[in-house]
Amino acid sequence: MVKRLCALFAACAFLTPVVVAQRDDKSALAQRIDATRDHYASVAKEIWGFAEIGYQEQKSSALLQQELKAAGLQVRAGVADIPTAFVATFGSGKPVVAIIGEFDALPGLSQEAQTAQRHAIEENGAGHGCGHNLLGTGALAAAVAVKDWMAATRQPGTIRYYGTPAEEGGSGKVYMIRAGLFKDVDAVVSWHPGDRNEASPTSSTANVTGKFRFRGVAAHAAAAPDRGRSALDAVEAMDYMVNMMREHVPQETRIHYIITRGGSAPNVVPDFAEVYYYARQPNMRILDGIWDRIVDAAKGAALGTGTTMELEVTGAVYNVLPNEYLSGVMHANLERVGGFAYTPEEAKFAEEIRKTLTDAPDVAVGSQEKVRPIRTGAVNSSSTDLADVSWNVPTVSMTGATFAPGVPAHSWQATACAGSTIGIKGMMVAAKAMALTTVDLFTDPAHIQKATAEFDERRGPGFVYKTRLADRKPALDYRK
Ligand SMILES: [Zn+2]
Repeated sequence: MVKRLCALFAACAFLTPVVVAQRDDKSALAQRIDATRDHYASVAKEIWGFAEIGYQEQKSSALLQQELKAAGLQVRAGVADIPTAFVATFGSGKPVVAIIGEFDALPGLSQEAQTAQRHAIEENGAGHGCGHNLLGTGALAAAVAVKDWMAATRQPGTIRYYGTPAEEGGSGKVYMIRAGLFKDVDAVVSWHPGDRNEASPTSSTANVTGKFRFRGVAAHAAAAPDRGRSALDAVEAMDYMVNMMREHVPQETRIHYIITRGGSAPNVVPDFAEVYYYARQPNMRILDGIWDRIVDAAKGAALGTGTTMELEVTGAVYNVLPNEYLSGVMHANLERVGGFAYTPEEAKFAEEIRKTLTDAPDVAVGSQEKVRPIRTGAVNSSSTDLADVSWNVPTVSMTGATFAPGVPAHSWQATACAGSTIGIKGMMVAAKAMALTTVDLFTDPAHIQKATAEFDERRGPGFVYKTRLADRKPALDYRK
């Protein structure tokens, strides 16, 4: 019987050797990744527990580096003048395919895992409300699996893992691009946690962030207010003007701010105040004009309140340049991998946590079992520094269903899911789909050729990548 099966297999292999070999390769690769689930679940959980914010991800970065070294990749740490940035490499020559890992957490989103009640582990502490513990670890699982596959099949080319810090507002990748680290890369493969399995070619908003600092004159707020010039007045005047401006910008624009310094006591006229702004728009050129108007409002506020203003631009990222061709390749692999089922306990947790959302979700529990059909032309209102990579190298990214359906990113609910078993399940879907996509890019040169042709066409002739951060140092203290 065994002999007959072997004979049968040999005959099939003889008829369509390449197709059969690739199909078997891919199934075997996906199975090998499945077998690593417990290991990567513990890595993801550890990083979730570290919950380190942008540019302060020492432990998370070190753990990922250690994993990559142990797997046989060579690690270059502290690249681009950023202590927590690194690049891990295996192989040599072309093509060069890069898998992206992020690992920073968000301030204030500390939350216990797998519970549907708001309960911070540490009051005002940071938490993985964007699931970057899963992002970095899923990318690690994919990169190591591809490395092992390359070693076993003697596949020529280079696989890299980019450890990219401070995705949340720190623009870490922009500095890594500036340092030339993406120069020889042919394609970039990435993913992001979310509430669905999808590989559509979506764009994002371009985003400029900055801190406006006003300086006035301190005085007794009751005895000698006429001697004072309030820096907080300037912040309020600026915010008022910007809030009126909202009516006169294209409606897809997003502007948000927090007052980070507003004085130290009501009876002292504040001589220093600071407001931290984000402005976003699907079109970088339109955003440039809006940002200039925001800066004008700050100047006007300073003039009117007798204070001075200085601006520190802390971050700037493009809108994502989608690549439909690469998304098609990734979508096919994601469909092959498929979604996943919840256990009864996981389904209960998902239903409970959905009840805590302000609006009833438009997606049902169970939707994580499927892969969304591919759609074109969608733009997310959020932003990412992966966008800058996408204007330098053909880039593809997908979403894995790590959060209960309907749970938005940057919420305590997302932190709870990112530390849970459903988060791990979604992460493994992404790890497999990324690894299989990367294998496709290595084995069929036509993929990179077609992706590059689309990339060139979308960028247009004569495109030169420029960033507002051109001559500044990474804002390593932007969270302070
Ligand atoms: Zn994120």
